[in-house]
Amino acid sequence: MPSKPTAAILTIGTELVTGQRLDTNSTEIALALHAAGFTVTEMLSLGDDVAACARQLERLCAACELVIVTGGLGPTHDDITREAASHALKRPLLRDQSIAEGLLTVIARHRDPKAAEHILLQADILEDATVIPATTGTAPGQAAATPRGTLLLLPGPPHEMRPMLAAFLGEHHTGVPPVRLRCTGTTESDVQLAAQRALAGHRGVELTVLAAPAEVEVVLFDEGAGEEGLLAAGLAVEAALGDVCYSNDGASLAEVVVRRACAAGVRLACAESCTGGLIASALTDVAGASDVFTGGVVAYSNDLKIAALDVPPGLLAQFGAVSGETAAAMAEGIAALTGATYAVATTGIAGPGGGSYEKPVGLVWFGLVTPKGTSTSCRSFPGDRAGVRIRATRTALDLVRRALPEAQ
Ligand code: AMP
Ligand code: MG
Repeated sequence: MPSKPTAAILTIGTELVTGQRLDTNSTEIALALHAAGFTVTEMLSLGDDVAACARQLERLCAACELVIVTGGLGPTHDDITREAASHALKRPLLRDQSIAEGLLTVIARHRDPKAAEHILLQADILEDATVIPATTGTAPGQAAATPRGTLLLLPGPPHEMRPMLAAFLGEHHTGVPPVRLRCTGTTESDVQLAAQRALAGHRGVELTVLAAPAEVEVVLFDEGAGEEGLLAAGLAVEAALGDVCYSNDGASLAEVVVRRACAAGVRLACAESCTGGLIASALTDVAGASDVFTGGVVAYSNDLKIAALDVPPGLLAQFGAVSGETAAAMAEGIAALTGATYAVATTGIAGPGGGSYEKPVGLVWFGLVTPKGTSTSCRSFPGDRAGVRIRATRTALDLVRRALPEAQ
């Protein structure tokens, strides 16, 4: 197999190297490049310094087939990317008249006549470069030929960068899209071992395992297997993972729950204490959730558990708010209130305070109502407050997923 083309990513912005903004572009672009068949050899961030950027650009363009730069293409004094690229490639910037005309409406919105001068800088294009039109902002992207390949200049704001990157890679796609298998209710090492065993007979597949709280993602990249080989490897790994794998098409856990509920024609509800609305938030993130999600109650205090969810005060006094009995009563209460046939409830100790010997920080009880009846379960989660809450949220969604019939 011929070796893969190499790529480097340079993100420009003083806000990045002073820690005021997180460089999310590099990670996003690296993932897209890897999936498109490039080997990313370097990721670099620099402040808004023309000379430093020009120096590094010259070096990267000599080293890699593709160099992608983000940031510094706007109209302000610190937007120096065009100038740096012009120095690095030793090629002039020429004003593109049709882009300049397109910017006149933007100029009209500014009172200061000086603004026009700056705004028009966005129409300065490297000689012989291809313009990538701006669809969501004003600064266009540029693709310029280099002795080794291409220098691609993209705007810094992720929502402006993204469509231009997709347009560019759509034409320069050299690889097979990766297979993504998302899992929950398992561990990184169990997933790794199961995937490695399943891949034993499959050649030319690169395995990556990415872990997040209560979530493990398996990504299989083509390293010579080809499209059919990669799909076969994906099926083998998916079968080995079994029902901990909830999606093979990038769908989130909440999306899978909504899809299953839609297919089954049932309605969902949730009653949340320690997750504080995160379950409802995850479900309502999904477009079309209104077809199946009736709603939820965040019942943090005992008083609201009693008033809104009809949890018996005696039960709270006897077993405590963090108990299977309370979780069951909360789930039954929200099911009765909403008429939903599937309801999930959470009550736990997210920490850092509030734990005891019997009920330590991280302990979460779940109540689940389905047409088959009410059940409870409990888990002890590691991590800080945020970690416990997100793990509890994913676990609650997974309980609902497993209770629902699989969508055909
Ligand atoms: P610029 O194109 O340099 O004017 O950048 C405009 C804005 O885009 C910055 O203020 C950041 O909020 C955002 N931005 C720039 N570079 C990045 C990056 N590498 N990752 C994420 N956001 C970025
Ligand atoms: Mg900037």
